[in-house]
Amino acid sequence: MLTRRMVLTGGAAAGLMAGSVSWAWPVLAAPVETFPVTHTDAEWHKLLTPEQYAVLRQDATERPFTSPLLNEHRAGVFGCAGCGRGLYSSETKFDSGTGWPSFWAPLNDNAIGTTQDTSFGMIRTAVHCAGCGGHLGHMFNDGPPVTGLRYCMNGVAMTFKPVAA
Ligand SMILES: [Zn+2]
Repeated sequence: MLTRRMVLTGGAAAGLMAGSVSWAWPVLAAPVETFPVTHTDAEWHKLLTPEQYAVLRQDATERPFTSPLLNEHRAGVFGCAGCGRGLYSSETKFDSGTGWPSFWAPLNDNAIGTTQDTSFGMIRTAVHCAGCGGHLGHMFNDGPPVTGLRYCMNGVAMTFKPVAA
């Protein structure tokens, strides 16, 4: 699994050698945001599986087509694996063909937050849980017509609660 920390180190070095100014972006795009749910790093290690920790706390990305939630088609709510906050409704889930659970809108205005992510030499919008700040995935502008957005999520960072039939 690649983490952003590992990639940033390589990317910064490459940017400096090439004389590019892109290495400065992470500094500009890092406002200090506080979250209702906070834990120490040691506590997160205890609360999360190694895979969840790598994604939620280290910005890793799960391999595509590996999440059981990809084929979760029941009605319900997808929540944060770190703090339990509701993130997405099954009503906005769609098959993007990417191999990651995809949604065209968050559950509500308080579900998620976004930041600019310049890792991997790309400018992307990273999505995090508004409850604990855990990294969830990225948002792209090539979603279905409803909103035109595609929230590309790591399934390992979420849990699913079906609604009672
Ligand atoms: Zn959370």
